[in-house]
Amino acid sequence: MNQECITGLSQTWKDICDQYTENEHLAALQFIQRHVEHLVTVFYEQMSREPESAEFFKDDIIQKRLIDTLRKWLLETFNVALNGEFESSVKRQQKVGMVHARVGIPSWFIMRGVREIERKVFEILELNQTQNILHMCSYIVQIMGFSTEIMCRSYEINTEKNQETKHNYRLFSAMQDVAVHKDKQRGSLLDWENELMFKIFSGNVGFYHPLFSKSEFGLWFIHKAAYAFSGSDQVQLIIDRIYEVDQLTQQTMQMTEKDQLQQLIQQIRELNREIQHLVDQLFQVAEYIESGNDSLTQLLNRRYLSTIISREITFARQNETPLSLLAFDADYFKMINDKFGHAAGDLALKFIAEALQRYSQGSDYAFRIGGEEFLLLLVDTGVNRAMKIAENIRQYIEKGLIRTAQGQQFSFTVSIGCVQYDGHPDYQRFLDAADHALYAAKNNGRNCIQVTKHLSYI
Ligand code: GH3
Ligand code: MG
Ligand code: MG
Repeated sequence: MNQECITGLSQTWKDICDQYTENEHLAALQFIQRHVEHLVTVFYEQMSREPESAEFFKDDIIQKRLIDTLRKWLLETFNVALNGEFESSVKRQQKVGMVHARVGIPSWFIMRGVREIERKVFEILELNQTQNILHMCSYIVQIMGFSTEIMCRSYEINTEKNQETKHNYRLFSAMQDVAVHKDKQRGSLLDWENELMFKIFSGNVGFYHPLFSKSEFGLWFIHKAAYAFSGSDQVQLIIDRIYEVDQLTQQTMQMTEKDQLQQLIQQIRELNREIQHLVDQLFQVAEYIESGNDSLTQLLNRRYLSTIISREITFARQNETPLSLLAFDADYFKMINDKFGHAAGDLALKFIAEALQRYSQGSDYAFRIGGEEFLLLLVDTGVNRAMKIAENIRQYIEKGLIRTAQGQQFSFTVSIGCVQYDGHPDYQRFLDAADHALYAAKNNGRNCIQVTKHLSYI
């Protein structure tokens, strides 16, 4: 959401409030304050009753955290008309939507819950025979509706982004296998075509040629590449072309008319050129996606961080397995660049990457997320083992000697933040906690490890 959009939404919020008097704003806030516990309980009772949402809310941590958040949301949202902080309130709704997208709470859950709160509000107002009941209801409904609307806007934007990255990640992983075969398959497409031409031109009548979909190329594309690239526009086009070539091939095998045969051959050749062109396009996209790797260290870069972390968090929650995160930042790195040059600095960065690879397992994920900042996501690993790995890496780097191209030698150190995942579904919390620990390590004199025990302290 850009600033223009935020300003527009803040104005709308203000316009809604301006339709009511200050006394009405105050009365609504006091009403919410009086009944907030009841409203929050109604929301969660409803959510726990419906199977789809119940599954999500069954976790104690989630329940407690979200109850606190909902209580705060209600109180803050109805205070806006009085304190006039429309813009910061729009931003807050936007942030809530973003968190829901990250955590994977569908927006209809929220709408469902809000509907339940509204129903309860009417019920209480009616029971108490509140004065100006219609006015009060209409104000409450408008504010609830509008703030949910902002949340959903932000939710949509962020879910789309997540989906795109997830899709790209799948491509990235499946692609590596497919790319190996790229040149070979290009050759096999040509071989199939050449053999067909040979059979036709050698004047064999009633010859047999395997269908294109059953050729090495056809099978490779349909079974492997189509999966690796699924979701790309070209895939269905290519498959359609392959079957068109099949039909034409069948016709050539029965054709005796030379002119028509020539036409068929021409059509097959054109379709095959088109297929080649489309396959090349697919690989171009894939090469772009491969930039998920950092070119200096060959570690993963930031691009897939959110996809991988949220997937591992879901796994850890579902399987109740531990998950830990180490955050690294090289100490006084500017000095290394200043003293030994940028190229020497790059060697030191590669050395950090090597250390991360050396002490982690194939199932862990090592990222270079910024200049001299790295992350190591340790799957199936609790804090004790994570601390041991961190210590091994810290010592390995401290003891290492970097030799520059000019023959100079230097050593350097890293600071490390360590955290174990605590069950909160928002991966950003997990990242923040690791960062928090890293800052503590810097403040503690560098070249050391600090651990954050509980994410909730952040
Ligand atoms: P601190 O101990 O507080 O982390 O000190 P620092 O000097 O490492 O801190 P800071 O984050 O301010 O500096 C990071 C430096 O890393 C700045 C930049 O010159 C260097 N850097 C960032 N990316 C690269 C890179 O790709 N190659 C090299 N050689 N240096 C880089
Ligand atoms: Mg830094
Ligand atoms: Mg640094």
